[in-house]
This record gives sequence, structure tokens and C-alpha cells, in this order.
Amino acid sequence: MEWDEFKNAIEQKAEQIKDEINKKIVIPVNNAVSNIKEDIRNFDILNTSEDVALKSHYVSWYKNRLIIRTDLSRSGSFGIVFLSRNIGTGDYAKNTLNHEYGHTIQLKLLGVTKYTVFIGIPSALSGGLEELDYYSMPWERSADLFGGVKRTTVYLPYIDAISYLYLANVKLSPYPDYFYGGSIHLP
Ligand SMILES: [Zn+2]
Repeated sequence: MEWDEFKNAIEQKAEQIKDEINKKIVIPVNNAVSNIKEDIRNFDILNTSEDVALKSHYVSWYKNRLIIRTDLSRSGSFGIVFLSRNIGTGDYAKNTLNHEYGHTIQLKLLGVTKYTVFIGIPSALSGGLEELDYYSMPWERSADLFGGVKRTTVYLPYIDAISYLYLANVKLSPYPDYFYGGSIHLP
């Protein structure tokens, strides 16, 4: 009698462990593998479809840019686009993808140093602004223009011209000489 109880308890425990392993390892790993397979199937270096990029789970390719999906609340880019998984697949998501793509064009235009100083840092610092104000900042607005983003919110007046002037000014201005090391002349 006691032996039977013992045996039952062991069998129950074994069943529990099996369920846990299934729930915590086997099913998630299977899902990840099928998601990776799907990403590989959809990976196309000629892809220009927003939907294909937004359907990806881990990686994708969009207009000649590598897209990596993250669990961060915000999307960002530095040549590579780090696209949050939380944005869904609707208009907001398309705008986000194209805005970040626009940032990669700015990077190409300005190079790493100027992009970091005049786009990346101001962009990070303006993160707390309301959406309308944020996307009306000169360093953000040209990303929307390059990405072809049309927001329903209204931008600040003259911001298109201002954002192009800002970009041109950054592009044409020389690097401060501490970037390459100038000589100093003491009196
Ligand atoms: Zn931005």
C-alpha cells in the first residue's frame, strides 16, 4: 500500500516536471525555431515592403538596411534599424520603420561623427517631448522627409525648410579641429 502511494507520488512528480519542461523549454524553443525559419524564408535583399519587414520576428531587410527586432519600448537606428516588436504592423509601425530608415539616410549623408553629434544626441535628448514637437525637431523632421513619412499630426511651420537648412549647415560646416588634432600656436 505504502509502496503504491510512493510510486504514484513519483509518477505525479515526473508528470509535473515533464509539463514544466514542455511549457518552459520545448514549446518556446519550437516557436523560436519556426519564427527564425519564417524570417529566413522572408529574407530578401531586394525587399522594399514595409509589411514584410514588420512581420519579421528577429531580422529582416528593408530598402537595403538590416532590421533587427528588439523588445525595447523605443525603436532606434545607427545604420542598422533596431525596431521594437511592440509597435504592431499598422500605420504607426510603418511610420516608425520609415522614420528610422530616414535616419539611416542622414547617417549616410553626414558620416558617423556629425550624425552622432548633430542628430543622435539631440534626438536622444528630445525623447521627452510630445509627439508633435518631437517630430518637428529639425533632426527628426528630415528623417521623416527622407523616409517618406506622412504623419496626420501637423508639423510646426517652416519646419521642412528649417530641417533641410539644419542638415546642410551640419554637412557643410568643418569638423571642429579637436576631431583630428590641430596645432596650437602660443603667443
Ligand atoms: Zn528619430
